[in-house]
Amino acid sequence: MVKRLVTFPDGRQVCPLGQGTYQMGRRRKEEIQALRRGIDLGLTLIDTAEMYGTEDLVGEAVRECRDKAFIVSKVLPSNADYKGTKRACERSLKRLGTDYIDLYLLHWIGQYPFSETVRAMVELQQEGKIRQWGMSNLDVADMERILSLPHGTDCAANQVLYNLKDRGIEFDLIPWSERKHIPIMAYTPLAEGKLRRHKTVSGIAERHNATPTQILLAWVMRSSNVIAIPKAGSMAHVEENVRSLDIDLTKEDLRELDAAFPPPARKIRLAGW
Ligand code: NAP
Repeated sequence: MVKRLVTFPDGRQVCPLGQGTYQMGRRRKEEIQALRRGIDLGLTLIDTAEMYGTEDLVGEAVRECRDKAFIVSKVLPSNADYKGTKRACERSLKRLGTDYIDLYLLHWIGQYPFSETVRAMVELQQEGKIRQWGMSNLDVADMERILSLPHGTDCAANQVLYNLKDRGIEFDLIPWSERKHIPIMAYTPLAEGKLRRHKTVSGIAERHNATPTQILLAWVMRSSNVIAIPKAGSMAHVEENVRSLDIDLTKEDLRELDAAFPPPARKIRLAGW
């Protein structure tokens, strides 16, 4: 059951739990089943990128339910000049087997000026090839630069590293994004499995009759503007993850987690890709 939704600037709403696909492909059949199970359970946002080599897998997973799915893909910085962005999008559409991408992101900052990438994104949106566009791995100062460009305030999301042990964005990027109504997509929300055996997390999980993974996800999704996109390669993991949506962490839980993983007390450079 989804208790709250995250709203994009164009009014579209998604469940705060989505599905990542980085490093999928090795168990293709099982992974496609997992993604489809997730969509059936309401995890309609699926994250891919031209870099991941998973766009065709995502396309296959959503073939029978394209209208239900919310596909996010990304252009590589090395392709992100004006013409290159447009060509990369066409290639992604072909691999995905669809005629539109719901949200198209610049994967990270590269050598091309933002103005070129954004101009191409705006045109792709006007042509109906993408519904919305956004950024990934950008900190506040660079997001400000994006917003100052023509049509820059249409920027619909910023996808960044965020999990219990990488909390730097709480200092300024999360509050800034809330003020600008730009959703944050939290990647690597499970810290790639590194926190599953942590004593504090396990203790809280026991109190909620939940698993540590579910606590980690509930924690990431506790802010109203944040979407978590864990990668889960099996139906069992997807079903486990979806139950994190029912967990309300208490003040006491949050206090314990803050003690074990202190929130940032000063500006920390954005970590990640
Ligand atoms: P993650 O989601 O933090 O961790 C993925 C790992 O957690 C996988 O090994 C997965 O195993 C495991 N897992 C998932 N559910 C589980 C469960 N219920 N129990 C036990 N293990 C579980 O790491 P991530 O893949 O790096 O990040 C998620 C997504 O964010 C990526 O797939 C990608 O779409 C996106 N991303 C974006 C960027 C960017 O620069 N924009 C960078 C990194 C990632 P199984 O596969 O066996 O389920």
